[in-house]
Amino acid sequence: MNMILLGAPGAGKGTQAAIICDKLKIPTISTGNIIRAALKSGTELGRKAKSYMDAGQLVPDEVVIGIIRERLQEKDCENGFILDGFPRTIPQAEALDAMGITIDTVVDIEVSDEEIIRRLSGRRVCEACGATYHVEFQPPKVEGQCDACAGALVQRKDDHTATVRERLNVYHEQTEPLKGYYAKQGKLHEVPGEGDIAEITRLTLAAIGA
Ligand code: ADP
Ligand code: ADP
Ligand code: ZN
Repeated sequence: MNMILLGAPGAGKGTQAAIICDKLKIPTISTGNIIRAALKSGTELGRKAKSYMDAGQLVPDEVVIGIIRERLQEKDCENGFILDGFPRTIPQAEALDAMGITIDTVVDIEVSDEEIIRRLSGRRVCEACGATYHVEFQPPKVEGQCDACAGALVQRKDDHTATVRERLNVYHEQTEPLKGYYAKQGKLHEVPGEGDIAEITRLTLAAIGA
């Protein structure tokens, strides 16, 4: 199963991807995580991406397309994958099609802008393993500490309120048109993304027939 998770920043793509990849035994490929790892280790990619990311803008298409082209060739993608955060623009989707990779299904997680702002302002991520929490909606057992690895929980720089607004604008302008792109291909499933996390997983799996 080659699937795409679409949705605004904070829609719950990463949260759902973690659950689904465990269930279906296929890897999650998150361009955001790949870029953040590059930033941390100070690579060329990290340097190129930093100013865009900090400003809430998208990294240029050719950069992320290159990342994905390489990543999808790795062996663990043979039996399928979940794309989280890619594609984010029409040219990225076209590039994916041009790579000859068949996308079986696209799930769009629908969340209102007000809810997105609540979610991103309270999001915390584990510095060590990348696990995601929310101070109110998905708190860790011990405040400030990851349940999985006891790493420190931090707020992403781009989750501060001013940047969140910009990211939402970018989403509506550049990413939302992908719904039409995949609807035309008959691959789009829309799932309501507000409410119980397990229920959203259930609806997502039902939508993709898994
Ligand atoms: P979120 O989890 O909030 O949706 P991501 O972690 O997916 O955010 O992405 C964080 C940032 O990384 C984006 O704001 C953008 O700067 C960059 N980025 C991630 N994926 C892409 C992509 N497919 N195209 C361009 N930029 C991307
Ligand atoms: P995305 O990967 O789409 O940017 P995340 O999975 O990181 O989104 O989720 C964004 C924030 O919202 C996180 O703090 C997460 O804990 C929280 N969250 C995820 N799903 C839900 C939900 N169904 N209800 C409430 N909060 C949620
Ligand atoms: Zn952790």
